[in-house]
Amino acid sequence: MTNPTDAAKPVRWLTFRDHDPDFLNLKYVYPVLSRRMQGISIGINLNTNNACNWACAYCQVPGLHRGDAPEVNLPLLEAELKGLLDNPALSPMIPPDTPETMRQIRDIAFSGNGEPTSSPQFVEAIEIARRQRDTHGLEIPLVLITNGSLMRRSEVQAGVKALAEAGGVVWFKVDRLLPASMKRINGISYKPEQIQGRLDIACSLAKVWLQTCWVAWDGQPPGAEDEGAYLEFVARNAHQIEGVHLYGLARPSLQPEAPHLTALNETQMTEWANKIRATGVKVQISI
Ligand code: SF4
Repeated sequence: MTNPTDAAKPVRWLTFRDHDPDFLNLKYVYPVLSRRMQGISIGINLNTNNACNWACAYCQVPGLHRGDAPEVNLPLLEAELKGLLDNPALSPMIPPDTPETMRQIRDIAFSGNGEPTSSPQFVEAIEIARRQRDTHGLEIPLVLITNGSLMRRSEVQAGVKALAEAGGVVWFKVDRLLPASMKRINGISYKPEQIQGRLDIACSLAKVWLQTCWVAWDGQPPGAEDEGAYLEFVARNAHQIEGVHLYGLARPSLQPEAPHLTALNETQMTEWANKIRATGVKVQISI
């Protein structure tokens, strides 16, 4: 591999669009330049087999298939995270015109090629992230990006509790409430009360943001029924969530459903965000 400390000949620059977990040829840990975080987010990918228990139409994981995360080599995960936070390779990967404020590490996010809570070593991985963050004196949050589906498992709850004790936050995926719409967008369907039950558990353990992907299908934005069900759900949960992260199609889907999806324009996203805000919650948009 090219010497990553050679700023004149970088292997590859970090970009907003490049969220490839193989970025530095590490197995579990990867940096991304995050517009959302206005800086660098260190991603931890426990699903190195590209397996998820959902199959979202917009998913950017190549070769996505159903399943759980494999056994994690915890010493290797810790060594990779330590190596990246020690930082000899990271800063030269950032394009030279990147403002200084964007060069800071903003969070450590469990966000990989599948559902992170399906890892049999989810709790241990949280502990590693916490330990390395604290050892490096970083005052940054840990973030769990999850579809929330396994929140009833006691070991997942233990991991979320550990995350919260480490000052972490949960991003809980809720794209659609109507079962048929959820089936189309997420490849799985739950009854709204099942989603509510899992969200209640997450909110009892940690600070929770909803994360919602809002896109058109065959050129049609989500209809009035989808909007109504979503707004009713958010209003009902306004007292227990931190807010909503609303995002569109920042990067192309790598799934067979990709031809059906198109991004909504800025005006449509802003209007939708304002409707959500009217329920009394904060909304952050990434388009
Ligand atoms: S939950 Fe996440 S990883 Fe799983 S299919 Fe959906 S977008 Fe992909």
